[in-house]
Amino acid sequence: MSMMTAAQYEESLRKLDLVVYMFGERIDNVVDNPIIRPSMNAVAMTYELAHKPEYRDLMTATSHLTGERINRFTHIHQCREDLVKKSKMGRLLGRKTGCCFQRCVGMDALNALSIVTYDMDQALGTEYNPRFLAYLEMVQRGDLVCDGAMTDPKGDRSLPPHKQPDPDMFLRVVEKTAEGIVVRGAKAHQTGAVNSHEIIVMPTLTMREADGDYAVSFALPADAKGITYIMGRQSCDTRKMENGKLDQGNIRFGGHEALVVFDDVFVPWDRVFMCGETEFSGILVEKFASYHRQSYACKVGVGDVLIGAAQTAAEFNGAERASHIRDKIIEMNQLNETLYCGCIACAAEGAVEPSGTYCVQTLLANVHKQNVTRFPYEISRLAQDIAGGLMVTLPSEADYRSETVGPLIEKYFRTREGVSTEARMRILRLIENLTLGTAAVGYLTESMHGAGSPQAQRIMIARQVNMNEKKRAARNLCGIEETDGKNQD
Ligand code: SF4
Ligand code: FE
Repeated sequence: MSMMTAAQYEESLRKLDLVVYMFGERIDNVVDNPIIRPSMNAVAMTYELAHKPEYRDLMTATSHLTGERINRFTHIHQCREDLVKKSKMGRLLGRKTGCCFQRCVGMDALNALSIVTYDMDQALGTEYNPRFLAYLEMVQRGDLVCDGAMTDPKGDRSLPPHKQPDPDMFLRVVEKTAEGIVVRGAKAHQTGAVNSHEIIVMPTLTMREADGDYAVSFALPADAKGITYIMGRQSCDTRKMENGKLDQGNIRFGGHEALVVFDDVFVPWDRVFMCGETEFSGILVEKFASYHRQSYACKVGVGDVLIGAAQTAAEFNGAERASHIRDKIIEMNQLNETLYCGCIACAAEGAVEPSGTYCVQTLLANVHKQNVTRFPYEISRLAQDIAGGLMVTLPSEADYRSETVGPLIEKYFRTREGVSTEARMRILRLIENLTLGTAAVGYLTESMHGAGSPQAQRIMIARQVNMNEKKRAARNLCGIEETDGKNQD
């Protein structure tokens, strides 16, 4: 089996024995939990679309290991076109789900490891790359979801890992045996954690020599003994437990994040991809971060949904012809398409690494993600402007369905002929969901902090820009001698 259907994916999750806690209690049935289920539906869309002929080209690829057709989320990019298709796939899925569909982190971890395990073996004579490729083949053949886990809790940010008062603030190796390693620590904000078959751990930052125990990368089955998941909560999450779906806005899909705790978990050597090679920790972080910053193509798709919702709300109100409304919609589209430019550009300018994997252009990937930390906020502001205050003062679906006050809501929130009050409520709830509710976790705060906070991209932009080339261009044009002044290359 190389490509699961959405139904097979759901069944495969039922076989996992995950230790998941939410609201202080262990969850027995994760798949059918009303708060988690919409996030499972979103990942399932990555399987569903792969079987549709019209999306086959974007959603699938040919494995460079087996020659078989595989889901693109398990593929190692073999050319620039693969990178471009990855960006387009992200937009498509964002548009189809209106939320975070969670599967990109694993794809990005696989691609980063395909580069760095090879480079390590070349430089140090280690044998990580063959191990990794055997693991990758297993992932591709099983069409598995991998949760890419990078972010440690970090404790006191002024201290390196080995100086933390609690040494577990960064995930580390606590024991090495002939069979494998034992790890302890946690990874925070783990997108899609309980919808994943596997978890791939990477270091969170460049490790120095004294932090050798923390320079560790490995993969584990999601239900390995000693792993505990504690679900993060989202604003308005308990609406998913109410009768009726209207107040959820997005009635089918959502995302989730969790704190994942590793309590002395054993990892066999054939699943270890870095163990103590501190000098390669930084490049692993950089490659993963660049790929994942490209992955924020997803927000363009979610932006499509929000723009469509704002236009619909304007039309329902009879305001769509007002010049200021038109102008705001144009502004939203200009911002959203600017984001699209960035994720396509960093892919189109990608290049091959020594391992044969294609990687995005780092500078442009960082510029793209930096834009993502801003534009969705502006698009959201404009959407709220167009939607009007009713978006946050609407009575509940229960009131709308009630025999006593329902007719009053029907009467007083009616708008133009041909538009039902319920349709008006639904579109406003969707805008609320995207800009204030559960989906705002993905569209706003995750746009800010996911794949690294804004400052992380600014540091990379400063590092990657060729400033000497720019200075030379300026000096040439105004006739400054190469030797003149202090600003020498
Ligand atoms: Fe993928 Fe976007 Fe979710 Fe990150 S935020 S996992 S890039 S859908
Ligand atoms: Fe993310």
